[in-house]
Amino acid sequence: MKTLHKISDLRAELNALKNKNPELKIALVPTMGNLHDGHLKLMQQAKQSADIVVATIFVNRLQFGVGEDFDKYPRTLQADQQKLQSVSVDFLFAPDENELYPQPQNFYVLPDENLQGVLEGKTRPIHFRGVATVVLKLFNIVQPNCAFFGKKDYQQLLILKAMVQQFALPIEIFGVEIARADDGLALSSRNGYLSESERKIAPKLQQTLQQLRQQVLTTSEKNFANLVENSKNALQQQNSLWQVDYIKICDKHNLREIQNLENGVNTNDLIILAAAKLGNTRLIDNLEI
Ligand code: AMP
Repeated sequence: MKTLHKISDLRAELNALKNKNPELKIALVPTMGNLHDGHLKLMQQAKQSADIVVATIFVNRLQFGVGEDFDKYPRTLQADQQKLQSVSVDFLFAPDENELYPQPQNFYVLPDENLQGVLEGKTRPIHFRGVATVVLKLFNIVQPNCAFFGKKDYQQLLILKAMVQQFALPIEIFGVEIARADDGLALSSRNGYLSESERKIAPKLQQTLQQLRQQVLTTSEKNFANLVENSKNALQQQNSLWQVDYIKICDKHNLREIQNLENGVNTNDLIILAAAKLGNTRLIDNLEI
């Protein structure tokens, strides 16, 4: 695996390969590093669908709000390089801020408010603008045939799919299933912020979503408000360290909140999305119904 820090170097490498074989299929997997098995699953799926896999590591300031964890976000390049090598990634692009943002970035991709203004976007208003902007930039730098994103960040996946469609980008977007620890906790770089005792109770978030899913599937109650409220309470009553930001049942195609099962709503179209703080750490998770 070659690690490159400059846009020009990466382009030169990829152009040389494409000159030799114009049919070469390139997959892009953007990350912020501090890689875990969830990231590696993305790399492995990318490897199966393309000839060349380009992973990127860049902690993108544009997607962090004031008071969020940009400064303390874990940066572990050496360990990440070894992990990427172990799953046969071809190129790691790891630019610094000057390379990606030589001038302050003042052109943005502004996602549709219906997609970005809800769920995560309510608590993190500039987040998806920052994500879409950096991903478009990475698309332009790498010019991949396909790109892989995790369903762990479900809202992000939907926004990026919409971006590709709206700007007619010739890139196929793949969503990869959530990788979990044995106890069900969705893998995340931010899990490292949890104390030992917090880590023990963290799987309760996933368990709460499983229970809610079961209730939606079995109950005769058509109105979801009570079920959702009970789930929030169940989580917060487990331990006072939990503070629920949201638990919502949405249409998985457009993130519109679904309040009840009437008007021909099919449970196959639903997804439960949740965010909760455990102590100082904000966790997100979701479950398709
Ligand atoms: P991040 O480094 O957190 O920006 O994540 C980079 C990519 O990995 C994103 O597409 C995430 O959705 C994906 N990802 C992160 N955690 C997981 C996980 N547990 N399972 C699947 N994909 C994940």
